[in-house]
Amino acid sequence: MKIKDNKREEIERISSRVRELSSSATLAMSQRSAELKAAGIDVINMSVGEPDFHTPDFIKKAAKTAIDENYSLYTPVAGYMSLREAISAKLKRENGLEYSPQQIVVGNGAKQELSNVILATINPGDEMIIPIPAWVSYMEMVKLAEGRVIEVMTEEENDFKLTAAQLRTAITPRTRMVMLNSPSNPTGAVYTREELQALADVIAEHPQIIVLTDDIYEHINFVGGVHSIAECDNVHNQTVVINGVSKAYAMTGWRIGYMAGPLEIAKAVTKLQGQTTSGASSIAQKAAEAAYRGPQDRVQAMREAFERRSRLIVELAHGIPGWRVRKPHGAFYLFPNVESYIGKHCGDRKIESSADYVMYLLEEAHVACVDGEAFGCPGYMRLSYATSDENIREAMRRIAEASRKLG
Ligand code: PMP
Ligand code: GLU
Repeated sequence: MKIKDNKREEIERISSRVRELSSSATLAMSQRSAELKAAGIDVINMSVGEPDFHTPDFIKKAAKTAIDENYSLYTPVAGYMSLREAISAKLKRENGLEYSPQQIVVGNGAKQELSNVILATINPGDEMIIPIPAWVSYMEMVKLAEGRVIEVMTEEENDFKLTAAQLRTAITPRTRMVMLNSPSNPTGAVYTREELQALADVIAEHPQIIVLTDDIYEHINFVGGVHSIAECDNVHNQTVVINGVSKAYAMTGWRIGYMAGPLEIAKAVTKLQGQTTSGASSIAQKAAEAAYRGPQDRVQAMREAFERRSRLIVELAHGIPGWRVRKPHGAFYLFPNVESYIGKHCGDRKIESSADYVMYLLEEAHVACVDGEAFGCPGYMRLSYATSDENIREAMRRIAEASRKLG
């Protein structure tokens, strides 16, 4: 009865825009795992993807200094000029990219800037090409902007990377945007410079298309450095780069990210931000500035830890019967194929999908992961290995044990 009333109230009070939005599966699973933990169950959380390290001390110190120096007023909508200058210098130093501070807008995480760029450029009915599997929020952001998501299923054999031929086939006169994310969440795939150039050559033939490249995992790669499509001269002016401090500096809770791109898009995003959230937190911005200007050795140390853990989890995953595992080249996720468990039973319980298998692992093994369905890719699951070696070993032991019970 209560549920029925809630349903009616939802229809009466909540906009169709939000009713039709899916909740973030990554955040929902993490919340579920926290609830089970609070109830006294020893859950290992491999669902949400965030570094398990502490923010480096010199960054925390910069934030404390900012408080003492009274950085307490509203910030400029696009972010402090000093931070945008530091980002501009970072893009030049680390990526060889030229962006003036005026072409950069700082916001509450990469997530807000992704959403802002999409809202600022997509008209109702415009198409956005998203290579699948893809991070859970891209599709929903496009839906909010009343755009059409064009999902292009990539091939596991091509390490889940979009090919120039697939891109060419997906483009229509309504295509407005192409999404790229390398290193990829959830697959850990990394595009080579040549692969990016091949995609750029297709995009350059369509000047109305914008490429949105989410480079948030750039420093977490195991291939000696990554490239962004923004480096390709023929699409530089069609590209918007998204990045932030969450992953590189273990600052997920500080909420600072940015976009860098054509001036008119930066201005449009600033206008939108000025009417919605205003500028991001003053303290967090001063901390982010310190992160970009300060020593970078902690970034390297964290990268090395993630690489070691990636080797550990791949080795252990090979020991789980029926999993098909690829080696991740970046980010901190393993994305095994778990299809062989579909149709298996444990007592009365039948595993009908990878989502069922993930739920079974949560309940039976007390390990929280995210199903491939959330990333548009049923038959797979995502494990975040941004956790201790000890947790990785124990989680994989439990998963193997629970999986063996399925027959
Ligand atoms: N893009 C990807 C691919 C991510 O995994 C995340 C992490 N949630 C984000 C963007 C958002 O990062 P931020 O914390 O900067 O909002
Ligand atoms: N990037 C992380 C993940 O995919 C954080 C959670 C989120 O914002 O989706 O798990």
